[in-house]
Amino acid sequence: MITILSGGTGTPKLIQGIKEIYPEEEITVIVNTVENLYMSRGYIAADIDTVMYTFADIIDDEFWYGIKGDTFLVREYLMDLGTEELLKLGDRDRATKLQKAILLEEGWTLSDIVELQKSKLGVKATIIPMSDEESEITIVTKEYGEIEFHEFLIKYQCNCDVLEVKYGDVSPSPKLIEAIEKADKIIMGPSNPITSIRPIISIKGVEEALKEKDVIAVSPFVGTSAFSGPAGQFMNAFGLETSSKGVAEVYRPFLKTLVIDNQDEDLKEEVEKIIPNVIVTNTFMKTIEDKVNLAKVVLDK
Ligand code: GDP
Repeated sequence: MITILSGGTGTPKLIQGIKEIYPEEEITVIVNTVENLYMSRGYIAADIDTVMYTFADIIDDEFWYGIKGDTFLVREYLMDLGTEELLKLGDRDRATKLQKAILLEEGWTLSDIVELQKSKLGVKATIIPMSDEESEITIVTKEYGEIEFHEFLIKYQCNCDVLEVKYGDVSPSPKLIEAIEKADKIIMGPSNPITSIRPIISIKGVEEALKEKDVIAVSPFVGTSAFSGPAGQFMNAFGLETSSKGVAEVYRPFLKTLVIDNQDEDLKEEVEKIIPNVIVTNTFMKTIEDKVNLAKVVLDK
């Protein structure tokens, strides 16, 4: 049994490879929830839905958001009527989010809702939100002060100086710690270390549980750039190097092995001063072959 810690882009790419070579029912994924929000009466748990759709083979893996081939009738008609939405939601994806909001209002926990939805989609893997409580992330910027994550990403298109990233304290979801303790191996995919993984490892009890395990991570950096997205800006805000070396620093208390890209081979020695092992391989996941090859490295197969 393996347990994966995930955000909504880099790690799901690796999951596409892992699920080709590892029994799905023996995979558990703990998913970041700090970016969750309500919008147009729907409850948007984007990273959870991306992981769920990835296992169900319906993810729109061009944008790593929503369902492949979805229609946008509700969005278009809302716009005709004069309602603009911050996020572009497809119709079927919107239904997933509306159902979450309806069930939350009826008193269901997020964990139970995800269990229901993933079962309906035929997903055999276990998917666990990091917390059933409302978690928050605030980006403190030089230009606009404190803003929400989606404002940073969409409204300001990441064009701000990030001074600080803050998350509220939340309790772990009921199965989280057990999912770490029971796993033969913990995999942290190449997700954003600050906005996707650190919120999970900051939860009480998680870091202590990880210290006892065989933990392997894949770096989301090549050279001094992230493969995509704003990870570098966030690393800077924490005074960390925007490279695989900075990633090793974030995970230093518990990480056994970091997988870095072939192009960073010259960093191997330096990173091994921070954490015990470094594996150098291709970490650029463009094709399914790339994803399966990286999955083989991570699973030691
Ligand atoms: P988010 O929730 O959408 O921010 O997604 P994640 O946190 O799961 O993933 C974002 C990270 O994925 C970024 O920092 C990227 O550098 C990384 N990433 C995207 N594609 C690749 C890839 O092909 N290889 C690697 N190693 N990292 C990738």
